[in-house]
Amino acid sequence: MAVFKPENVEDFYEIGDVLGSGHFGQVRKVRELATGTYWAGKFLKIRKNSCSRLGLERSSVEREVEVLQTVQHPNIVALKDVFESRAELVLILEIVTGGELFDFIADKENLLESEAIEFMKQILEGLGFLHSKNIAHFDLKPENIMLSDKLSPNPNIKLIDFGLAHRFHQGEEFRSTSGTPQYIAPEVINSEPLSTAADMWSIGVITYILLSGLSPFQGDTDQETLRNIIALKYEFEAQNFSETSSMAKDFIEKLLVKDPSERMAAEDCLLHPWIKPITRKQEANRNRSSINMKNFKKFNARRKWKMSYNMVWVCNRLVHLQLLCKASSDPDSLQRQCESDSEDTESKPASLLRRRLSSSS
Ligand code: ATP
Repeated sequence: MAVFKPENVEDFYEIGDVLGSGHFGQVRKVRELATGTYWAGKFLKIRKNSCSRLGLERSSVEREVEVLQTVQHPNIVALKDVFESRAELVLILEIVTGGELFDFIADKENLLESEAIEFMKQILEGLGFLHSKNIAHFDLKPENIMLSDKLSPNPNIKLIDFGLAHRFHQGEEFRSTSGTPQYIAPEVINSEPLSTAADMWSIGVITYILLSGLSPFQGDTDQETLRNIIALKYEFEAQNFSETSSMAKDFIEKLLVKDPSERMAAEDCLLHPWIKPITRKQEANRNRSSINMKNFKKFNARRKWKMSYNMVWVCNRLVHLQLLCKASSDPDSLQRQCESDSEDTESKPASLLRRRLSSSS
Protein backbone atom coordinates (compact mmCIF):
# COMPACT_ATOMS: atom_id res chain seq x y z
CA MET A 1 0.00 0.00 0.00
CA ALA A 2 1.30 3.43 -0.97
CA VAL A 3 2.38 5.86 1.73
CA PHE A 4 0.29 9.03 1.60
CA LYS A 5 2.07 11.72 3.59
CA PRO A 6 -0.32 13.48 5.93
CA GLU A 7 1.79 16.66 5.81
CA ASN A 8 0.90 19.87 4.05
CA VAL A 9 2.34 19.85 0.52
CA GLU A 10 3.04 23.58 0.78
CA ASP A 11 5.53 22.95 3.58
CA PHE A 12 7.71 21.12 1.05
CA TYR A 13 6.83 22.63 -2.32
CA GLU A 14 6.13 26.08 -3.67
CA ILE A 15 3.00 25.85 -5.83
CA GLY A 16 3.29 27.45 -9.26
CA ASP A 17 1.37 27.81 -12.51
CA VAL A 18 -1.26 25.46 -13.87
CA LEU A 19 0.20 22.98 -16.38
CA GLY A 20 -3.05 21.29 -17.25
CA SER A 21 -6.50 20.37 -15.99
CA GLY A 22 -8.36 17.11 -15.65
CA HIS A 23 -11.87 16.17 -14.63
CA PHE A 24 -11.04 16.09 -10.93
CA GLY A 25 -8.45 18.77 -10.45
CA GLN A 26 -5.43 20.56 -11.77
CA VAL A 27 -1.82 19.78 -12.48
CA ARG A 28 0.54 22.56 -11.36
CA LYS A 29 4.21 23.25 -11.64
CA VAL A 30 5.73 22.91 -8.15
CA ARG A 31 9.22 23.66 -6.85
CA GLU A 32 10.74 21.47 -4.17
CA LEU A 33 11.92 23.83 -1.44
CA ALA A 34 14.79 21.59 -0.30
CA THR A 35 16.41 21.19 -3.73
CA GLY A 36 14.89 23.82 -6.01
CA THR A 37 13.86 21.04 -8.44
CA TYR A 38 10.67 21.42 -10.45
CA TRP A 39 7.95 18.75 -10.44
CA ALA A 40 4.33 18.49 -11.50
CA GLY A 41 1.78 18.40 -8.66
CA LYS A 42 -1.46 16.64 -9.59
CA PHE A 43 -4.09 17.98 -7.17
CA LEU A 44 -7.08 15.63 -7.00
CA LYS A 45 -10.29 16.44 -5.18
CA ILE A 46 -11.50 13.59 -3.01
CA ARG A 47 -15.19 12.89 -2.39
CA LYS A 48 -16.22 14.22 1.00
CA ASN A 49 -19.39 12.18 1.41
CA SER A 50 -21.71 9.84 -0.44
CA CYS A 51 -23.90 12.74 -1.57
CA SER A 52 -21.05 14.27 -3.43
CA ARG A 53 -20.54 13.47 -7.08
CA LEU A 54 -17.64 15.87 -7.06
CA GLY A 55 -14.23 14.40 -6.69
CA LEU A 56 -12.82 10.92 -6.72
CA GLU A 57 -13.08 7.94 -4.44
CA ARG A 58 -9.86 7.74 -2.44
CA SER A 59 -9.52 4.10 -3.51
CA SER A 60 -9.31 5.06 -7.17
CA VAL A 61 -6.38 7.39 -6.49
CA GLU A 62 -4.78 4.62 -4.43
CA ARG A 63 -4.97 2.44 -7.54
CA GLU A 64 -3.36 5.14 -9.71
CA VAL A 65 -0.57 5.58 -7.15
CA GLU A 66 0.00 1.84 -6.86
CA VAL A 67 0.32 1.51 -10.62
CA LEU A 68 2.75 4.42 -10.88
CA GLN A 69 4.85 2.96 -8.09
CA THR A 70 5.06 -0.37 -9.91
CA VAL A 71 6.23 1.03 -13.23
CA GLN A 72 9.51 2.84 -13.54
CA HIS A 73 10.33 3.25 -17.20
CA PRO A 74 11.84 6.10 -19.28
CA ASN A 75 8.61 6.36 -21.32
CA ILE A 76 6.27 6.44 -18.35
CA VAL A 77 5.88 9.48 -16.10
CA ALA A 78 7.51 8.88 -12.71
CA LEU A 79 5.84 9.38 -9.34
CA LYS A 80 7.89 10.88 -6.51
CA ASP A 81 5.54 11.44 -3.60
CA VAL A 82 1.92 11.61 -2.48
CA PHE A 83 0.47 14.09 0.02
CA GLU A 84 -2.92 13.83 1.61
CA SER A 85 -5.06 16.54 3.18
CA ARG A 86 -8.71 16.51 4.21
CA ALA A 87 -10.11 17.35 0.79
CA GLU A 88 -7.43 16.47 -1.69
CA LEU A 89 -4.59 14.21 -2.64
CA VAL A 90 -1.50 15.59 -4.33
CA LEU A 91 0.64 13.38 -6.55
CA ILE A 92 4.15 14.75 -7.10
CA LEU A 93 5.12 13.64 -10.59
CA GLU A 94 8.12 14.05 -12.87
CA ILE A 95 7.50 17.26 -14.80
CA VAL A 96 6.90 16.80 -18.52
CA THR A 97 7.52 20.01 -20.43
CA GLY A 98 7.41 19.05 -24.10
CA GLY A 99 3.65 19.20 -24.52
CA GLU A 100 1.55 16.65 -26.36
CA LEU A 101 3.12 14.56 -29.13
CA PHE A 102 0.29 15.47 -31.52
CA ASP A 103 0.90 19.21 -31.01
CA PHE A 104 4.63 18.72 -31.63
CA ILE A 105 3.88 16.92 -34.91
CA ALA A 106 1.20 19.40 -35.99
CA ASP A 107 3.80 22.20 -35.78
CA LYS A 108 5.94 20.51 -38.42
CA GLU A 109 5.78 21.11 -42.18
CA ASN A 110 6.00 17.42 -42.92
CA LEU A 111 6.93 14.15 -41.26
CA LEU A 112 8.21 10.91 -42.75
CA GLU A 113 6.78 7.64 -41.58
CA SER A 114 10.26 6.72 -40.35
CA GLU A 115 10.20 9.77 -38.04
CA ALA A 116 6.70 8.96 -36.76
CA ILE A 117 7.86 5.39 -36.13
CA GLU A 118 10.55 6.61 -33.71
CA PHE A 119 7.76 7.97 -31.51
CA MET A 120 5.57 4.89 -31.98
CA LYS A 121 8.48 2.71 -30.90
CA GLN A 122 8.81 4.60 -27.62
CA ILE A 123 5.06 4.45 -26.99
CA LEU A 124 5.19 0.68 -27.56
CA GLU A 125 8.23 0.28 -25.32
CA GLY A 126 6.50 2.09 -22.45
CA LEU A 127 3.30 0.16 -23.04
CA GLY A 128 5.10 -3.16 -23.39
CA PHE A 129 6.74 -2.58 -20.02
CA LEU A 130 3.37 -1.71 -18.45
CA HIS A 131 1.78 -4.83 -19.94
CA SER A 132 4.67 -7.01 -18.76
CA LYS A 133 3.62 -6.00 -15.24
CA ASN A 134 0.03 -7.07 -16.05
CA ILE A 135 -1.17 -3.49 -16.05
CA ALA A 136 -3.39 -1.94 -18.71
CA HIS A 137 -3.58 1.85 -19.18
CA PHE A 138 -7.17 1.86 -20.50
CA ASP A 139 -7.10 5.53 -21.48
CA LEU A 140 -4.59 5.79 -24.32
CA LYS A 141 -5.31 8.80 -26.48
CA PRO A 142 -3.30 11.74 -27.87
CA GLU A 143 -3.86 13.85 -24.73
CA ASN A 144 -2.05 11.22 -22.65
CA ILE A 145 1.01 10.92 -24.88
CA MET A 146 3.43 13.71 -24.01
CA LEU A 147 7.03 14.63 -24.74
CA SER A 148 9.72 14.98 -22.08
CA ASP A 149 10.93 18.45 -23.11
CA LYS A 150 10.86 21.14 -25.76
CA LEU A 151 14.60 21.71 -26.08
CA SER A 152 15.84 18.43 -27.49
CA PRO A 153 15.28 17.78 -31.23
CA ASN A 154 14.30 14.19 -30.39
CA PRO A 155 12.37 14.37 -27.15
CA ASN A 156 11.31 11.25 -25.27
CA ILE A 157 7.75 10.00 -25.12
CA LYS A 158 6.13 10.06 -21.68
CA LEU A 159 2.83 8.26 -21.12
CA ILE A 160 0.71 10.05 -18.52
CA ASP A 161 -2.65 9.78 -16.73
CA PHE A 162 -2.92 6.37 -15.12
CA GLY A 163 -6.30 7.21 -13.59
CA LEU A 164 -8.08 4.38 -15.39
CA ALA A 165 -5.16 1.95 -15.29
CA HIS A 166 -5.76 -1.49 -13.86
CA ARG A 167 -3.44 -4.16 -12.56
CA PHE A 168 -4.70 -7.66 -13.34
CA HIS A 169 -4.39 -10.31 -10.71
CA GLN A 170 -4.16 -13.94 -11.66
CA GLY A 171 -7.50 -15.40 -12.73
CA GLU A 172 -9.25 -12.08 -12.29
CA GLU A 173 -12.08 -11.10 -14.61
CA PHE A 174 -12.20 -7.35 -15.00
CA ARG A 175 -14.82 -5.32 -16.83
CA SER A 176 -15.07 -1.58 -17.26
CA THR A 177 -16.97 0.73 -19.55
CA SER A 178 -14.77 3.76 -18.89
CA GLY A 179 -12.85 5.42 -21.66
CA THR A 180 -13.11 7.87 -24.52
CA PRO A 181 -15.44 6.68 -27.32
CA GLN A 182 -13.11 7.28 -30.29
CA TYR A 183 -10.34 5.14 -28.78
CA ILE A 184 -12.09 2.33 -26.92
CA ALA A 185 -12.01 -1.30 -27.97
CA PRO A 186 -15.16 -3.27 -28.89
CA GLU A 187 -14.86 -5.45 -25.77
CA VAL A 188 -15.09 -2.31 -23.60
CA ILE A 189 -18.33 -1.25 -25.29
CA ASN A 190 -19.70 -4.80 -25.01
CA SER A 191 -18.81 -4.92 -21.32
CA GLU A 192 -16.77 -8.09 -21.84
CA PRO A 193 -13.82 -9.16 -19.68
CA LEU A 194 -10.84 -6.94 -20.49
CA SER A 195 -7.13 -7.48 -20.88
CA THR A 196 -4.09 -5.43 -21.90
CA ALA A 197 -5.18 -6.05 -25.53
CA ALA A 198 -7.71 -3.20 -25.13
CA ASP A 199 -4.73 -0.79 -25.12
CA MET A 200 -3.49 -2.29 -28.38
CA TRP A 201 -6.77 -1.40 -30.09
CA SER A 202 -6.24 2.22 -28.97
CA ILE A 203 -2.72 2.06 -30.45
CA GLY A 204 -4.32 1.00 -33.76
CA VAL A 205 -6.68 4.01 -33.65
CA ILE A 206 -3.88 6.42 -32.70
CA THR A 207 -1.64 5.12 -35.51
CA TYR A 208 -4.46 5.45 -38.04
CA ILE A 209 -5.00 9.08 -36.97
CA LEU A 210 -1.28 9.83 -36.95
CA LEU A 211 -0.89 8.67 -40.54
CA SER A 212 -4.08 9.98 -42.12
CA GLY A 213 -5.36 12.77 -39.88
CA LEU A 214 -8.70 10.96 -39.76
CA SER A 215 -10.29 9.08 -36.89
CA PRO A 216 -11.24 5.60 -38.15
CA PHE A 217 -14.57 5.15 -36.35
CA GLN A 218 -15.63 8.75 -35.67
CA GLY A 219 -19.35 9.27 -36.21
CA ASP A 220 -21.47 12.39 -35.88
CA THR A 221 -22.50 11.30 -32.39
CA ASP A 222 -20.89 9.09 -29.76
CA GLN A 223 -23.54 6.43 -30.39
CA GLU A 224 -22.60 6.32 -34.05
CA THR A 225 -18.90 6.09 -33.17
CA LEU A 226 -19.60 3.16 -30.84
CA ARG A 227 -21.73 1.44 -33.50
CA ASN A 228 -18.90 1.84 -36.03
CA ILE A 229 -16.42 0.29 -33.59
CA ILE A 230 -18.66 -2.71 -32.91
CA ALA A 231 -19.22 -3.19 -36.65
CA LEU A 232 -15.47 -2.74 -37.30
CA LYS A 233 -16.52 -0.16 -39.86
CA TYR A 234 -13.38 1.54 -41.09
CA GLU A 235 -11.45 1.74 -44.33
CA PHE A 236 -8.25 3.12 -45.80
CA GLU A 237 -9.66 5.65 -48.24
CA ALA A 238 -7.20 5.98 -51.12
CA GLN A 239 -7.31 9.78 -51.15
CA ASN A 240 -6.31 10.03 -47.48
CA PHE A 241 -3.76 7.20 -47.47
CA SER A 242 -2.03 7.97 -50.74
CA GLU A 243 1.28 8.70 -48.95
CA THR A 244 1.02 5.75 -46.54
CA SER A 245 3.10 2.58 -46.89
CA SER A 246 1.38 -0.79 -47.17
CA MET A 247 3.37 -1.94 -44.13
CA ALA A 248 1.78 0.82 -42.04
CA LYS A 249 -1.69 -0.28 -43.15
CA ASP A 250 -0.83 -3.87 -42.30
CA PHE A 251 0.34 -2.72 -38.85
CA ILE A 252 -3.01 -1.01 -38.23
CA GLU A 253 -5.01 -3.94 -39.60
CA LYS A 254 -3.31 -6.27 -37.13
CA LEU A 255 -4.39 -4.01 -34.23
CA LEU A 256 -7.94 -3.15 -35.23
CA VAL A 257 -8.99 -6.76 -34.78
CA LYS A 258 -12.23 -7.49 -32.97
CA ASP A 259 -11.02 -10.58 -31.11
CA PRO A 260 -8.57 -9.29 -28.45
CA SER A 261 -6.62 -12.56 -28.46
CA GLU A 262 -5.90 -12.12 -32.19
CA ARG A 263 -4.57 -8.56 -31.83
CA MET A 264 -0.84 -7.86 -31.89
CA ALA A 265 0.64 -7.37 -28.42
CA ALA A 266 3.15 -4.56 -27.80
CA GLU A 267 6.10 -6.92 -28.22
CA ASP A 268 4.64 -8.20 -31.54
CA CYS A 269 4.31 -4.58 -32.70
CA LEU A 270 7.96 -3.91 -31.93
CA LEU A 271 8.87 -6.79 -34.25
CA HIS A 272 6.49 -5.81 -37.05
CA PRO A 273 8.44 -4.82 -40.21
CA TRP A 274 6.89 -1.33 -40.15
CA ILE A 275 8.61 -0.72 -36.79
CA LYS A 276 11.60 -3.01 -37.29
CA PRO A 277 12.26 -3.46 -41.02
CA ILE A 278 14.10 -6.59 -42.04
CA THR A 279 14.89 -5.84 -45.68
CA ARG A 280 16.36 -2.77 -47.35
CA LYS A 281 13.15 -2.42 -49.37
CA GLN A 282 11.06 -2.23 -46.18
CA GLU A 283 13.42 0.38 -44.76
CA ALA A 284 13.26 2.43 -47.96
CA ASN A 285 9.44 2.30 -48.02
CA ARG A 286 9.28 3.92 -44.62
CA ASN A 287 11.51 6.76 -45.77
CA ARG A 288 9.45 7.31 -48.92
CA SER A 289 6.09 7.40 -47.11
CA SER A 290 4.90 10.33 -45.04
CA ILE A 291 2.02 11.31 -42.84
CA ASN A 292 -0.91 13.23 -44.31
CA MET A 293 0.08 16.55 -42.74
CA LYS A 294 -2.76 18.62 -44.17
CA ASN A 295 -5.38 16.33 -42.64
CA PHE A 296 -3.36 15.88 -39.47
CA LYS A 297 -3.16 19.61 -38.77
CA LYS A 298 -6.93 19.88 -39.26
CA PHE A 299 -7.57 16.91 -36.98
CA ASN A 300 -5.35 18.37 -34.26
CA ALA A 301 -6.89 21.84 -34.41
CA ARG A 302 -10.36 20.30 -34.12
CA ARG A 303 -9.22 18.05 -31.26
CA LYS A 304 -7.86 21.05 -29.31
CA TRP A 305 -11.08 22.95 -29.88
CA LYS A 306 -13.14 20.01 -28.59
CA MET A 307 -10.90 19.65 -25.54
CA SER A 308 -11.51 23.24 -24.47
CA TYR A 309 -15.20 22.88 -25.30
CA ASN A 310 -15.41 19.71 -23.15
CA MET A 311 -13.64 21.39 -20.23
CA VAL A 312 -16.16 24.24 -20.29
CA TRP A 313 -18.96 21.68 -20.53
CA VAL A 314 -17.57 19.72 -17.57
CA CYS A 315 -17.23 22.88 -15.46
CA ASN A 316 -20.79 23.92 -16.21
CA ARG A 317 -22.00 20.41 -15.45
CA LEU A 318 -20.12 20.36 -12.13
CA VAL A 319 -21.68 23.63 -11.05
CA HIS A 320 -25.09 22.28 -12.05
CA LEU A 321 -24.56 19.03 -10.14
CA GLN A 322 -23.31 20.90 -7.10
CA LEU A 323 -26.49 22.96 -7.05
CA LEU A 324 -28.65 19.87 -7.56
CA CYS A 325 -26.79 17.97 -4.88
CA LYS A 326 -27.44 20.72 -2.38
CA ALA A 327 -31.12 20.76 -3.30
CA SER A 328 -31.65 17.01 -3.53
CA SER A 329 -32.09 14.57 -0.67
CA ASP A 330 -31.76 11.70 -3.15
CA PRO A 331 -28.25 12.02 -4.59
CA ASP A 332 -28.61 8.81 -6.61
CA SER A 333 -31.12 10.54 -8.79
CA LEU A 334 -28.33 12.68 -10.17
CA GLN A 335 -27.24 11.51 -13.56
CA ARG A 336 -23.64 10.56 -14.11
CA GLN A 337 -22.07 11.83 -17.25
CA CYS A 338 -19.16 11.01 -19.47
CA GLU A 339 -16.66 12.80 -21.66
CA SER A 340 -17.77 12.92 -25.24
CA ASP A 341 -15.94 12.95 -28.53
CA SER A 342 -18.90 14.47 -30.31
CA GLU A 343 -20.01 18.04 -30.15
CA ASP A 344 -23.57 16.90 -29.51
CA THR A 345 -23.71 17.36 -25.74
CA GLU A 346 -27.29 16.12 -25.58
CA SER A 347 -26.37 12.66 -26.78
CA LYS A 348 -23.76 11.56 -24.25
CA PRO A 349 -24.29 7.83 -23.59
CA ALA A 350 -24.90 7.33 -19.88
CA SER A 351 -23.59 3.77 -20.19
CA LEU A 352 -20.07 4.94 -21.02
CA LEU A 353 -18.89 6.73 -17.96
CA ARG A 354 -15.77 8.71 -18.44
CA ARG A 355 -13.71 8.23 -15.32
CA ARG A 356 -13.30 5.63 -12.66
CA LEU A 357 -17.01 5.36 -12.07
CA SER A 358 -17.98 2.01 -13.46
CA SER A 359 -15.04 -0.33 -13.22
CA SER A 360 -15.74 -3.65 -11.61
CA SER A 361 -13.70 -6.71 -10.86
P1 ATP B 1 -8.49 13.51 -17.15
O1 ATP B 1 -9.65 13.73 -16.31
O2 ATP B 1 -8.51 14.30 -18.45
O3 ATP B 1 -8.16 12.07 -17.41
P2 ATP B 1 -6.67 13.78 -14.95
O4 ATP B 1 -7.40 14.54 -13.88
O5 ATP B 1 -6.46 12.33 -14.69
O6 ATP B 1 -7.24 14.09 -16.39
P3 ATP B 1 -4.09 14.14 -16.17
O7 ATP B 1 -4.61 13.71 -17.50
O8 ATP B 1 -3.09 13.25 -15.52
O9 ATP B 1 -5.27 14.47 -15.15
O10 ATP B 1 -3.48 15.60 -16.31
C1 ATP B 1 -4.23 16.66 -16.84
C2 ATP B 1 -3.32 17.51 -17.72
O11 ATP B 1 -2.24 18.02 -16.93
C3 ATP B 1 -2.66 16.74 -18.84
O12 ATP B 1 -3.47 16.70 -19.99
C4 ATP B 1 -1.36 17.51 -19.05
O13 ATP B 1 -1.60 18.64 -19.87
C5 ATP B 1 -1.03 18.01 -17.67
N1 ATP B 1 -0.08 17.10 -17.00
C6 ATP B 1 -0.35 15.91 -16.41
N2 ATP B 1 0.74 15.34 -15.90
C7 ATP B 1 1.75 16.17 -16.17
C8 ATP B 1 3.18 16.14 -15.90
N3 ATP B 1 3.72 15.13 -15.24
N4 ATP B 1 3.91 17.19 -16.32
C9 ATP B 1 3.35 18.22 -16.99
N5 ATP B 1 2.03 18.31 -17.27
C10 ATP B 1 1.24 17.30 -16.87
